[in-house]
Amino acid sequence: PEADAASAVPDAGSPDHVLLRRIGRVDPLSLDDYRAEGGYAALREALRLGPAGVLREVNDSGLVGRGGAAFPTGRKWSATAQQPDAPHYLVCNADESEPGTFKDRVLMEGDPFSLVEAMTIAGYAIGAQTGYLYIRGEYPRALRHLENALALARERDLLGTDIMGSGFSFDIEIRRGAGAYICGEETAIFGSIEGQRGEPRSKPPFPVEKGLFGKPTAVNNVETLVNVLPVLLMGGPAYAAVGTEKSTGPKLFCLSGGVRRPGLYEMPFGATLRDLVEAAGGMPEGRSIRAILLGGAAGTFVRGDELDIPLTFEGAREAGTSLGSGVVLVLDDTADLASTLVRVAAFFRDESCGQCVPCRVGTVRQEESLLRLRAGASPAQELPLLREVGQAMRDASICGLGQTAWNAVESAIDRLGLFSEDTHQTAAPGDRPATEEAR
Ligand code: NAD
Ligand code: SF4
Repeated sequence: PEADAASAVPDAGSPDHVLLRRIGRVDPLSLDDYRAEGGYAALREALRLGPAGVLREVNDSGLVGRGGAAFPTGRKWSATAQQPDAPHYLVCNADESEPGTFKDRVLMEGDPFSLVEAMTIAGYAIGAQTGYLYIRGEYPRALRHLENALALARERDLLGTDIMGSGFSFDIEIRRGAGAYICGEETAIFGSIEGQRGEPRSKPPFPVEKGLFGKPTAVNNVETLVNVLPVLLMGGPAYAAVGTEKSTGPKLFCLSGGVRRPGLYEMPFGATLRDLVEAAGGMPEGRSIRAILLGGAAGTFVRGDELDIPLTFEGAREAGTSLGSGVVLVLDDTADLASTLVRVAAFFRDESCGQCVPCRVGTVRQEESLLRLRAGASPAQELPLLREVGQAMRDASICGLGQTAWNAVESAIDRLGLFSEDTHQTAAPGDRPATEEAR
């Protein structure tokens, strides 16, 4: 049986929630429930402000993307809106696949109308009449809830022609992914929707200029879009006052691993890692934190004694890590870190689309090296090769998958001291262990 969305939110119903405030409180299949809890007030406000007014509020809010890369949403929307080429498209990236990330699933399952309303506002602001919702194939419940939401919104003139009597026309089409992590990369989504292989394209040109079907396209993550509702309801400047100067608004954190109450937590930016772990009930009696993986498989490890790191984009950056999509995976003192790294490496090897050599070959070589290290190979001999492979992936891969495939491994070596032993020795070519042919 599928778990209810609210069961993933340990403090569901908290009066402090903004993004999660309807989770567990409304029937996700009822448009009346949604409207009774403030639904569609933001769209009404958007239609009152006009597209330029919406862009102004979103720019003023300081909202940045919640998919992982933190690009300013207002800048993305303004750049799309001003393109002379037509039509413009909106794509909602709901292909949430970063290991440890489940925030978008909870939003879509528990409050699907909020995403439909937010996509309608986005379409209005960027001058699009069609939005594509590209949803992860493994989210059947979210899909059902969204299909229901689209049908009810169409019945009540909240989608389709002349929305709310405003003259604005917009509709949303759903496309399902088929299990490939790479299809969450924004340009691979385009290929997938267009009926081609889901392979990333080189950027620039950025999608705002040349995106879906070669047309100007804004691609936004689910959580990013849902944040636009409070931006319009509060006003951009009031939204910007929440959190910190550089990381504004509320944020969802996906907490998993050894804490007492894992789940989805909402906090304004500015809390520390310690605050989050404490909100989740801390560690069970007798257990301590060995490491925390921030940002998922593409992210970095920090040590258990670094809990003062602020959960803001700038705070994480200063601490040499990043928030990514909000994954906080807590490994306790019993964790087998070498095996965790092998698992991460196998994931990237498996999910590489194979289009470019540094990633296709590098992810294979990285996994092989980690398997040898786990089996007891000499770090002095192995680590220089591993570092070279990792750096080549980071520098020369086409997309974020290859560019980040070495992050977790590098941080485990440098920050956690895993496999520590003369890590800076350069291997002579003859020292390299024999490896099998790359795929
Ligand atoms: P990116 O930095 O290339 O781009 C971020 C966004 O900004 C994109 O939409 C891009 O088109 C836009 N952009 C960047 N520069 C621009 C410019 N000059 N003009 C207009 N638009 C511009 O990052 P990315 O490769 O899209 O995303 C990487 C992130 O994705 C990583 O942080 C990773 O954590 C995250 N990620 C998330 C998931 C998930 O399930 N949520 C899965 C995998 C990866
Ligand atoms: Fe494909 Fe990897 Fe190259 Fe990205 S970096 S295009 S996933 S081979």
